[in-house]
Amino acid sequence: MRKAGIVLIIVFLVAAGCRESSDIHRRTQYLMGTVVTITVAGLADEDANRAMSAAFEEIRRLEGVLTFFSEDSDLGRINAAAGAREVLVSAETIEVLAEALRISDRSGGAFDPTIGPLVSLWGFEVKDRFVPPKEEIERARTLVNWRNMSVDPNLRTVRLERKGMKVDLGGIAKGYAADRAAETLRRHGVSSALVAVAGDIRALGEKAPGVAWHVGIQHPREPGAVLGSLRIADRSVSTSGDYERYFIKDGIRYHHILDPATGRPAAASRSATVLAPTTILSDALSTAAFVLGPEKGIGLVQSFPGVEAVIVDREGRVHVTPGLAGKVEGLAS
Ligand code: AMP
Ligand code: MG
Repeated sequence: MRKAGIVLIIVFLVAAGCRESSDIHRRTQYLMGTVVTITVAGLADEDANRAMSAAFEEIRRLEGVLTFFSEDSDLGRINAAAGAREVLVSAETIEVLAEALRISDRSGGAFDPTIGPLVSLWGFEVKDRFVPPKEEIERARTLVNWRNMSVDPNLRTVRLERKGMKVDLGGIAKGYAADRAAETLRRHGVSSALVAVAGDIRALGEKAPGVAWHVGIQHPREPGAVLGSLRIADRSVSTSGDYERYFIKDGIRYHHILDPATGRPAAASRSATVLAPTTILSDALSTAAFVLGPEKGIGLVQSFPGVEAVIVDREGRVHVTPGLAGKVEGLAS
């Protein structure tokens, strides 16, 4: 979707205690404005390559549908018709928007897919950024409200009620793409794989019988270092961080995850990592938990079955859900 500076999560190349075996295949492509790495285990070269090519192709297709940066994508057409009319879109767009609205509701609007006007105003794509004037932040903020987006799954239409509104799926689309890529691999006979769309990671099965996939959580203040690591099988993990896209002005870090309540970068966390049954959910919830901060963020994820979180607060303290206590390896206690 847009350029990500640093890959959020380091995917370990070796499972603990286990050397990389010869049936591991790994390929990387630049898609959705970021680095996508697919790892497949337990298949012959030709079968693994065919499956990985199909999975990359699926991500490329979804990027074309969901990108904010094209007038012809579903998102481009929805945004161009804001305040004027509803737009007919693909089933995939409906699926992502419906989940985005569910998380908006559950997070009390901390996650908001209509964040587009604020994202454009802050413009983290541009170098030499400056802090926008207060009045402009306020003007953009009045356009951000997920309740002013209507999604009709039966007619497959989407409507933005006010002119100037813009949908931005940067907080959820990569997770959805990881799910779809994993599903594509499965349909091609893969039962063991890891799909990493930057910091949105889906594990299909285990790495080998009895050996889970091993995923590192990026340390929010030490580039290239891990905060701790998790073992996952048939689950997803996403991290949102203030170190991914940001600029520093007068000693203050201004980053890309915005609090819809203030129109400014959310200030309660340095990073939020969420484990969930699907990547669309871990992605949306990691963004929401980041905005909400440790207390409310942990409360939010605990209201979802099978979801856990690790949140680093603004002071660098680490908070984990009770279900993960003692399970984040290497975490300094
Ligand atoms: P993530 O890295 O998944 O947390 O996604 C961050 C991206 O989501 C940003 O670059 C924006 O495109 C978008 N975004 C920023 N703030 C929000 C928010 N409060 N709710 C939903 N999406 C957001
Ligand atoms: Mg997210």
